Amino acid sequence: MTTTTFTDLPLAEPIQRALRELSYETPSPIQAQSIPAQLEGRDIIGCAQTGTGKTAAFALPILHHMAERPERPVANCARALVLTPTRELAVQVGDNFSKYGKFLRIRHCLVYGGVSQRPQVSAMRRGVDVLVATPGRLLDLINQGHISLERVEFLVLDEVDRMLDMGFVHDVKKIAAMMPAKRQTALFTATLSGQVRSVADRFIDNPVEVRIDPGKPVVERIEQKVCHVRTEDKLPLLQYYLTDSQGAPSDLRTLVFSRTKHGADKLSKKLKGFGIVSEAIHGNKTQAARQKALDRFREGRVSVLVATDVAARGIDVKDIGLVVNFDLPNEADTYVHRIGRTARAEASGRAISFCDEATTSELFQIERHLGREIDLELEQPFHYEGMPMRKSGGGKGRKGGGGGYRGGNRNRSFGRGGNDRQGGGGFAGRGRGGKPGARGQRSGGPGRPSTQRKERA
Ligand code: AMP
Repeated sequence: MTTTTFTDLPLAEPIQRALRELSYETPSPIQAQSIPAQLEGRDIIGCAQTGTGKTAAFALPILHHMAERPERPVANCARALVLTPTRELAVQVGDNFSKYGKFLRIRHCLVYGGVSQRPQVSAMRRGVDVLVATPGRLLDLINQGHISLERVEFLVLDEVDRMLDMGFVHDVKKIAAMMPAKRQTALFTATLSGQVRSVADRFIDNPVEVRIDPGKPVVERIEQKVCHVRTEDKLPLLQYYLTDSQGAPSDLRTLVFSRTKHGADKLSKKLKGFGIVSEAIHGNKTQAARQKALDRFREGRVSVLVATDVAARGIDVKDIGLVVNFDLPNEADTYVHRIGRTARAEASGRAISFCDEATTSELFQIERHLGREIDLELEQPFHYEGMPMRKSGGGKGRKGGGGGYRGGNRNRSFGRGGNDRQGGGGFAGRGRGGKPGARGQRSGGPGRPSTQRKERA
């Protein structure tokens, strides 16, 4: 049977009502392929990237079973356990259960580290329907006797590959071993590595395997560009992308990635100096501070969020217009995860990456992973011509470059001290002319007029 709308799925009426309210009409491929099997009680392995709708893919069948067979929660117990790698993802999953279960009497609780355990312990004392937890704090509370897994009927292991990357493999195995053998399990992962398979083989029984094409559709929806830039020009280049031609902050919701926590703090501070409302999130911040920054970003009160990879994992904020890789990631996979933040729920998005001389090998790796070169942005005032050449095996031209790869002939090169954006081609939506502050800045000596102008402002 091919499912065309949610009404074709035998989901309980209160869930259908919540979906109507959310204007969900058509199940995404992971939902269409996995929900029917889970409604029949089957275990599943879902191979899908974030942003493909996998939360509803597991939440809806669990809620349906609870709607059909309501039970009073038992003290310290949960009927469903969702394990996530990060606190942020736990919060998001919890929010989704609330949204989809709005018309059901569902009690859920979040358990994660970095905050006081007291409210979590007191919520569990009454028992819950759904417990969403990160592995470390969950084990902690189990060991203290505040949580028992003996009544878990549904287990979801979300973003298992990430959990394993983060070193949670033993915790996950310990937790799964504490659960009744008779349960329904769903495992979600972006990649099906050998290690993920071994976890799956151990805990999943005769699963239905659902594979959604490995991320390409999401990546393909994103307009990607790379800027060749000197390391010392990265900050003014970022400022350039975050302001309009008058130097005023643009209202584009932007996520900026920094490789280090210190770098994220420093960047956010600099941006504030330019009059750009920004916040940094990273692993050294308290959970409360991270959540507050995320909420402010989600509500549009902060337009630029500077994040490290760990903190940004699983962020689901709608309408992120632009992702900037201020520092390129070490791993090509991380690049795909990062830029995927801008193409949630079928939206398209833009991603721009700054590549300096120190990170050319990262760029090559990413391009190899994508199976293609990322278009070079020439029409930016800090374009650096002196990037090392790459032997690209046959000299494929770059789109918009009109020549070979790095350092090749370019018919639209901006060049040093360039002073005209030619109507803001390249990145769509930045239709503006030359930027006065950036004009002539390279030929004018070592000064950074645009930066200095803003810092004084
Ligand atoms: P996820 O991959 O679960 O993080 O979901 C990504 C985004 O898609 C979230 O903002 C969801 O609210 C949204 N979403 C999930 N399923 C659907 C659907 N079938 N129709 C519309 N939006 C959806």
